[in-house]
Amino acid sequence: MASKRQIRVGGVPIGGGAPVAVQSMTKTETADVAATLAQIQRIAEAGADLVRVAVPRDKDVQALRELVRRSPIPIVADIHFNHTLALKAVDAGAHCVRINPGNIGGREKLGEVVEKARSAGVPLRIGVNSGSLPKHLHQLERENPVEALVRAAVEAVELVESLDFHNFKVSVKSTSVPDTIAANRMLAERIDYPLHLGITEAGTKWSGTIKSAVGLGALLADGIGDTIRISLSTFHAEEEVKVAWEILRALKLRSRGPVLIACPTCGRLQFDMDTVVAEIEERLQAYSEPIEVAVLGCAVNGLGEAAHADFGITGARNEGLIFAHGKPLRKVPQERLVDELFRVIDESLAAGRTV
Ligand code: SF4
Repeated sequence: MASKRQIRVGGVPIGGGAPVAVQSMTKTETADVAATLAQIQRIAEAGADLVRVAVPRDKDVQALRELVRRSPIPIVADIHFNHTLALKAVDAGAHCVRINPGNIGGREKLGEVVEKARSAGVPLRIGVNSGSLPKHLHQLERENPVEALVRAAVEAVELVESLDFHNFKVSVKSTSVPDTIAANRMLAERIDYPLHLGITEAGTKWSGTIKSAVGLGALLADGIGDTIRISLSTFHAEEEVKVAWEILRALKLRSRGPVLIACPTCGRLQFDMDTVVAEIEERLQAYSEPIEVAVLGCAVNGLGEAAHADFGITGARNEGLIFAHGKPLRKVPQERLVDELFRVIDESLAAGRTV
């Protein structure tokens, strides 16, 4: 049920069968160009396709011009309340402008932003939030928050369509996971524009990751959603990107870098798997190849599972059996296990073999 329409944010296709795009948002003061660019760089290196920056003041829109020029990935300008900033963001070269029709100042001002975007060939993101629905939907919101959210989005879409503008994506956001799932399912039935998914104020790295994985995972598994952002209350925005990729990889929607499979361990475990897995996970971060590495605590399922992965370890008493490409290679004592595994991985990659 992915959207039929496609837009392009910078060079990144969104919707219409394109891979689900990963985005994050900078948490620096946008006007601090050096800090913001450094964070954009980290976000891009973590694998984001797009980055959003908040533009709440004139000095941020001035910084935006420089950010757009130097960013390795397209920038979405995030505007609330002030439609003049939206106009200026387009002039500053933003690749997309996110506005909330509920707080941009009415139909006339929305029309001005649409005209500006049209003349510059810049797409918009029409973002509707449960916290800022128009007044006439407040009663409905109390009775049926999901229907109110969807109706607000559809009304905004119809308004923008009435201006003969179709170059946009849509998001409906709520802090409630069930409401987000229900609203996006309903919206996907009613409009065919690309959908941006996210859970508003999802929470800390731990709880936000789980809420996002549940909410976005349910939708993405149904084929709903064309671009995603994981909102985590950590300053390190690149963590959001890592979570987004983990969700997409878990659903096999996109692949990027290594996948680590590890058993949960049980009473059969006879070596220090915690340490081994943590070290492997850490060292795998330096690899971009889509290799699968399995670490299993014992031979019960371990022999078969390790043999299915590109590389694997099956544990035994204080040692492990290393596998590569389905074949057992050698037993190695625990203290040399990780080094030996990576020696095998490196040799295999150097020989041009990943699977
Ligand atoms: Fe337990 Fe072995 Fe299964 Fe790991 S692989 S969970 S140690 S039985």
